[in-house]
Amino acid sequence: MTNIRVAIDGPAGAGKSTVSREVARQLGFVYLDSGAMYRAVAYAALSTGIALSDADALTGIANEIQIAFDQSVPPTVFLNGSDVTTNIRTPEIGTAASIVSQVPGVRVAMVRQQQSLGAVDSIVMEGRDIGTVVFPDAEIKIYLTASVSERAKRRAGELSAAGQVVNLDDMECQISERDYRDMHRDDSPLCVAAGAWELNTDGISIDDVIAMIVSHVRSRS
Ligand code: C5P
Repeated sequence: MTNIRVAIDGPAGAGKSTVSREVARQLGFVYLDSGAMYRAVAYAALSTGIALSDADALTGIANEIQIAFDQSVPPTVFLNGSDVTTNIRTPEIGTAASIVSQVPGVRVAMVRQQQSLGAVDSIVMEGRDIGTVVFPDAEIKIYLTASVSERAKRRAGELSAAGQVVNLDDMECQISERDYRDMHRDDSPLCVAAGAWELNTDGISIDDVIAMIVSHVRSRS
């Protein structure tokens, strides 16, 4: 059987990670969180004192670092062999990731790795440019979205469950700023890929979204 690539794109906090991970588990596909890769680059840059405005140094570090995933639940992310799963999940690293991801050299390095992962197995890959740039010929493309207030509530819930103190207004601001940066950058801006199924998850439970996507993939494969 040929490999199936499910590309799931959308803005921050739309529920992509939970949905993509569970869809992959139910279908028996590999799961890849491409955002974690940009977060790892941002974390590597900040922890080695590289300025987020230094495009050449960021490109250099994106080509040098080794990013690996362990497919346990929840997945573990390794940067040069060290577990950085928790370190990369802070709002500060989210903001830094959206800055480093504007650098074309960083994107080239990440997209190359993502494409080689998708060449080996059936995969669910989530991000911002999976259906537009990484796999423009993906068998299934989905654009998952929700209103800013709904996304801020979900993100705040996840962070407080992880023990972080969050303010809902700050969260809405951060999400709106991140949307703007992701949708207006020159290289690979976030947009709905041609042929993508656009799914607004406001008022739909995550379990229902998962079930809808799993049955969509099964009906197409
Ligand atoms: O998905 P997550 O919020 O963890 O991604 C962090 C940042 O990485 C995003 O705001 C976006 O700027 C960047 N990103 C990207 N392309 C992807 C995945 C994430 O530019 N495929």
